[in-house]
Amino acid sequence: MATVSIPAGTSALLLDIEGTTTPITFVKDILFPYIREHLEDYLSTHWEEDECKQDVHLLKKQIEEDMRQNRACPVHAVDQTVHTDEEKAIREVVDNVLWQMAADRKSTALKQLQGHMWRSAYASGRIKGEIYQDVIPSIKRWRGQGLKVFIYSSGSVEAQKLLFGYSVEGDVLDLFDGHFDTSIGAKVDGKSYERIAERIGCQPEEITFLTDVTREAKAAEEAGVNVLVVVRPGNMELTDEERAHYNLITSFSQLELTRRA
Ligand SMILES: [Mg+2]
Repeated sequence: MATVSIPAGTSALLLDIEGTTTPITFVKDILFPYIREHLEDYLSTHWEEDECKQDVHLLKKQIEEDMRQNRACPVHAVDQTVHTDEEKAIREVVDNVLWQMAADRKSTALKQLQGHMWRSAYASGRIKGEIYQDVIPSIKRWRGQGLKVFIYSSGSVEAQKLLFGYSVEGDVLDLFDGHFDTSIGAKVDGKSYERIAERIGCQPEEITFLTDVTREAKAAEEAGVNVLVVVRPGNMELTDEERAHYNLITSFSQLELTRRA
């Protein structure tokens, strides 16, 4: 495997998660199926708890909003008067959540319930965050050489912390100097990388961003951030033009910090 130099002047590495530190299939093949398979069970177990009540309440609000907006949504969803029939109420919540997921809705109500289910699954060891084997040893090496390491993912900071806090390598959160999600801006918007630089307290030119997605790489470049494109199994194929334009790595272990003498 050819060695690739971390661009000179880099003081901070910014890492994407899906397709970069973690198999691109993790969310699709592990996290989402977990919700579909355990939703009914989870609701039954936690139905009487305040947190779960709040989650269900938020879902009801979302459904009311959807109906007001005349959005297509399951009309049988969550009858407001069925508190006496728990089983039926749970089934209705399940129907609505599964429908939202199938429609790829990004509602806060859906995200909140999913977040709580994943937290419980991670904490009990039923889910472990997947990380490619080359990732942690490389981060340790770079940190030993004085580099800072940050995460930037479209998954929420909370979700990022679960993945790395309950990972196949144990709790590795100590290895990161900070986390960013889309609350700082979209990953395909150059401005987001300027804001991240500001937040880290360095120039964009001192950051090297590792991602599998060339639209993100392009945005980072526009902001003056250095970019390396990560090629992992299952990642989106790059065009010949993209292959020619970007420095590519297939493993973090290829990346070496070369300081000028
Ligand atoms: Mg990615």
